[in-house]
Amino acid sequence: MLRKTDFYIDGKWIAPTVDKELEVINPADEQAFAVISLGSAADVDKAVTAARKAFAKWSVTSREERLEWLQRLLAAYQERIDDMAKAISAEMGAPIKMALDEQAASGTAHIKAFIRALKNFEFERPLDAHNTSSRIVYEPIGVCGLITPWNWPMNQVVLKVVPALAAGCTVILKPSELAPISSVVFAEIIDASGLPAGVFNLVNGDGPTVGEAMSRHPGIDMMSFTGSTRAGVAVTKAAADTVKRVSLELGGKSPNIVFADSDVEAAVKRGVAHVFNNTGQSCNAPTRMLVERSVYDTATQVAAETAKATKVGDPSENGDHMGPLVSEMQFNKVQGLIEQGIKEGARLIAGGTGRPEGFNRGYYVRPTVFADVNNGMTIAREEIFGPVLAMIPFDTEEEAVEIANDTPYGLAAYIQSGDPERIKRVSKRLRAGMVRINGASHAADAPFGGYKQSGIGREGGHWGLEDFLEVKAISGWEDTAA
Ligand code: NAD
Repeated sequence: MLRKTDFYIDGKWIAPTVDKELEVINPADEQAFAVISLGSAADVDKAVTAARKAFAKWSVTSREERLEWLQRLLAAYQERIDDMAKAISAEMGAPIKMALDEQAASGTAHIKAFIRALKNFEFERPLDAHNTSSRIVYEPIGVCGLITPWNWPMNQVVLKVVPALAAGCTVILKPSELAPISSVVFAEIIDASGLPAGVFNLVNGDGPTVGEAMSRHPGIDMMSFTGSTRAGVAVTKAAADTVKRVSLELGGKSPNIVFADSDVEAAVKRGVAHVFNNTGQSCNAPTRMLVERSVYDTATQVAAETAKATKVGDPSENGDHMGPLVSEMQFNKVQGLIEQGIKEGARLIAGGTGRPEGFNRGYYVRPTVFADVNNGMTIAREEIFGPVLAMIPFDTEEEAVEIANDTPYGLAAYIQSGDPERIKRVSKRLRAGMVRINGASHAADAPFGGYKQSGIGREGGHWGLEDFLEVKAISGWEDTAA
């Protein structure tokens, strides 16, 4: 059993103030493989003290100094990439090949994107060409509390820690208690990268204790949170008394509009595969497939065949199969929502409740597709966070846009069409932070985040850096500079 019970505070691994251990479960066999500690408000205090002290020096380092550190971090991260993939696979069930090629690799891609962003960021400039006596200066916001979920653990950790530090902030990270081992590996990588003590701190723990203590803490200037809308609201309320900036990356129920003028078979196959990637546990998964009625029968047939051909397997085995869900709680939630879909009259065309054939333990679920869903059904409104696709027919472009936007979320939207004019028209009408056309991928440098209840703020590249900066207007600059 791996014991990772210490926290990384002020450049050292230290024991928690109060002993309270938690076993980390491998979702493939339901067995504990590691032990961590659940921290307390006292551990948060220690980390905040270290981060505040370190902020004085780190916040005034030059761009060049921080770029040098980022290059060292990139090298150290790449050196430990196999350990990172193994940790992610064991803690949240991503198949090992996917854990390496997508999960761990996303960390590398984001570090590289932040290096590019930091190189190009304009920290100081005149207000405009006519007013050079007003100086605009971007400065690090301060000590940042970072809370992350379990589904893309390193993607989310790197999307917060790296831009915060690149901006000159200092941080306290609390990763998900379900998937904390990748963050322990990340702290070891940071330690090897030669960052000054106290700039990065790691405290493990649960949301209501450590997460809440961070959100309320008067020594923390900003909270950056990724997770459920429910917990995001809790963080925002707890942070309100101290008027912190709160940045939120929350849930989604993203529409994927398949027009009859697209390559329907390829578009549907791609859409289904995207929903099932990471066992459906992606905030931007295109879980509502809206299909033009003239190609609806073909689309449902292709979707059912694609789901039935999707292999489920042990994450430790090499291959392109789908792994288990992260936890028993997530397994029960997904089972309940599949039952709800059946009860509300959606037509089950692949998968269903129970484990896939051949599995009697592990949180494995069946790749599931519902046809004839209407947008008012529970499975069309709630984020399921499992491999469950809801297919909804539509008749006109107008109706497609209306259904797509009829959701409390607004994270991502997808369009499949062969008509360039329609693509431009529809992409601008969709109330979502990210629109992807005909399978185009989202660049690591592009802003990631959503409209409506999908969040506040953007992560990634230039926008990710800006999220952690304050802007200052200095008037009379020429006079004082003279
Ligand atoms: P979760 O909200 O249960 O937990 C996320 C984190 O918040 C964990 O670290 C948890 O300990 C902490 N937390 C829980 N309650 C808290 C509280 N009261 N105060 C402070 N912290 C608290 O979410 P999850 O189940 O780990 O992750 C899945 C959710 O994350 C999904 O809704 C998914 O859509 C969302 N997500 C969003 C994005 C995005 O960028 N928009 C990316 C990935 C995941």
